[in-house]
Amino acid sequence: MIEGKVVTIGEILVEIMATTTGNGFLEPQPLIGPFPSGAPAIFIDQVGKLGHAAGIVAAVGDDDFGTINLDRLKQDGVDISAVAVHPGAATGSAFVRYRPDGSRAFVYNMRDSAVGRIAATPEAETLLASAGHLHVMGSGLPVPAITGMVRSTLPTLKARGGTVSFDPNIRREMLRDEGGKAIFQSVLAATDLFLPSGEELSLFTGETDEGRAVTALLDAGVKEIVLKRGEAGSSHFDRSGRTDMPGFVVAEVDPTGAGDCFGATFLVARRLGRSVSEALRYANAAGARTVSVQGPMEGSSTFSDLDRFIAETPVRA
Ligand code: ATP
Ligand code: MG
Repeated sequence: MIEGKVVTIGEILVEIMATTTGNGFLEPQPLIGPFPSGAPAIFIDQVGKLGHAAGIVAAVGDDDFGTINLDRLKQDGVDISAVAVHPGAATGSAFVRYRPDGSRAFVYNMRDSAVGRIAATPEAETLLASAGHLHVMGSGLPVPAITGMVRSTLPTLKARGGTVSFDPNIRREMLRDEGGKAIFQSVLAATDLFLPSGEELSLFTGETDEGRAVTALLDAGVKEIVLKRGEAGSSHFDRSGRTDMPGFVVAEVDPTGAGDCFGATFLVARRLGRSVSEALRYANAAGARTVSVQGPMEGSSTFSDLDRFIAETPVRA
């Protein structure tokens, strides 16, 4: 590990949510939002909120949806010098509605929004050159400019002792995209910290058994794996073994963003020298706080928020 900013690349979006459950957006319905969002943005906002140096390569339009995102990131201490503002372009958006079974239906405006204009600008190159750690978000990998920056950053970052985390963050909607499968494999080979949830553990190895999937990933070069288990908490795996950490008992209001706040918190805690157990506990607390509030970034946490939450919240038996 080296010092330096935690940097990520990818989509900044607003999220607009249906206030009722049901199947998608096929009839007029009540909505709430816009909330600042985008998986990489949620992640990096949580890194900044924990007081760690953080930056994001992204693009927004010069509209209100861009402004609410930039204001939030700035307020939480994130370096936004590499967020390009494109006059006349629309900031990306995601409409989400929960189905009765808890799964989510999305309508994205991504590629035809400012997100589609993410590019290796001079500001992006400067930020990436200052990184001590790169967090790769699978949701952005189908975008060619993002793939290009990830490909060019990985070898130089690793050569100077930097580290890489990878959240596959694959939604059913994205698996329709056949384009970027090779890049997923090459990122995995450079990954120090892999952050799958549920069946994402098996995606790249084809091993459905948890233990065998873990072994296959470690054999492929991944140093550490942290498996997110929703309300059940999380587990850490490396060559020296396995650590399980139970989840906290909270009422789930809105699960979006939990995985990103969890991953950011685990990473920052480890960069600050915390043990695996301490980092898992902090990360579970960050995820649990996120799900108990509506809006993906609205439940992000400082370390004092987390200490207070851990002291007063029971864990699942
Ligand atoms: P996302 O919806 O952001 O993609 P994810 O699928 O990547 O999330 P989850 O496992 O859903 O990840 O959530 C991440 C972490 O947040 C969990 O490991 C857990 O610590 C915490 N968490 C999530 N849901 C709950 C819940 N209902 N109760 C308590 N903790 C939760
Ligand atoms: Mg996830």
